[in-house]
Amino acid sequence: MKTALVCGAGGFIGGHLVTRLKKEGYWVRGVDLKENEYGNCPSDEFVVGDLRDPLVVAKVVTSDLNEIYQLAADMGGAGFISTGINDAAIMHNSALINLNVLEEARVKGIKKIFYTSTACVYPEYNQMDPNNPKCSEDSVYPAEPDSEYGWEKLFSERMYLTYGRTCNMTVKITRLHNIFGPLGTWTGGREKAPAAICRKVAEAPEGGTIEIWGDGLQTRSFLLVYECVEGIRRLMESPDFAGPVNIGSEEMISMNDFAKMVIDISGKNLTIKNITGPTGVRGRNSDNALIREKLNWAPSQPLRAGVETTYKWIAEQVEKERRAKQTEPILSAKHKHVA
Ligand code: NAD
Repeated sequence: MKTALVCGAGGFIGGHLVTRLKKEGYWVRGVDLKENEYGNCPSDEFVVGDLRDPLVVAKVVTSDLNEIYQLAADMGGAGFISTGINDAAIMHNSALINLNVLEEARVKGIKKIFYTSTACVYPEYNQMDPNNPKCSEDSVYPAEPDSEYGWEKLFSERMYLTYGRTCNMTVKITRLHNIFGPLGTWTGGREKAPAAICRKVAEAPEGGTIEIWGDGLQTRSFLLVYECVEGIRRLMESPDFAGPVNIGSEEMISMNDFAKMVIDISGKNLTIKNITGPTGVRGRNSDNALIREKLNWAPSQPLRAGVETTYKWIAEQVEKERRAKQTEPILSAKHKHVA
């Protein structure tokens, strides 16, 4: 039986990855600052711990592991990574996690380690035209990511590659492009655009308005999480290809059109209002030429299918929260009475 450690197993993609590894028959240890909010982490062992602490890392990285999947990062959507206010924490926390995990993997003789980088490593100068962004893997240098989040990921990519070259370990790296889907962060400030828009639409009253940051002409592509996990597994199983490689969708869409798609799925009659807000680069799209060639991977379904699944799940969460809020005053009044 293969054994794996998933760092960031309490998070969105980490949870889905644990589920997939368990289906494949792995023994899995998960580690995260927190338990998976939606119970989506069927690991054999789960450690609540801070990977910035080398003692925690020494405890979870054991020499019997066949593979490590390092997904833990201090991250969020544009509201978290593009405002500047979280930059020191993002760089400090994520760099420390990567420094600790990689060095402990070397000390314990781990042979295979996977790292999630991001499309945010690509230079801003290639993403100024919303209709024609360039994000092929070889376009990453000269480097000019538009966020410190992207710079930290690029530094860590280089660190993983260096250990791979010099420390007798196989290092696999993906650059993920906007992964979305059920059981992910949908509220609280760290949610990414697809989840935030689904939430806004689900919360809006019939005939109401939803706000979209920027002029809404900025473009992105979005990939359903199950497709992403399939790509990660193919990369890990490949005997001779290590990346860094994009995992994303090539179905580029403007944010206004994405919002219109969600509104259409909801069946509501809503108006879009564009407001000032953090938007990141002007255009971004995955370039899948390399992953098609090396891993024969491509998304299996169109964007709309994934948005339908995700909207349904987020609308359910919004409804659950609304019901919970309705009962709040009754509970607190009762509590007061008892006291
Ligand atoms: P997520 O925030 O849901 O998961 C990250 C997890 O890391 C969280 O559960 C968090 O608690 C954990 N973590 C943070 N600091 C930690 C620490 N000090 N010790 C232990 N755990 C810690 O994010 P996600 O969307 O699942 O992303 C997973 C990885 O993929 C991240 O590295 C992210 O940068 C990368 N990525 C994600 C996307 C995307 O669209 N979701 C795109 C590009 C790259």
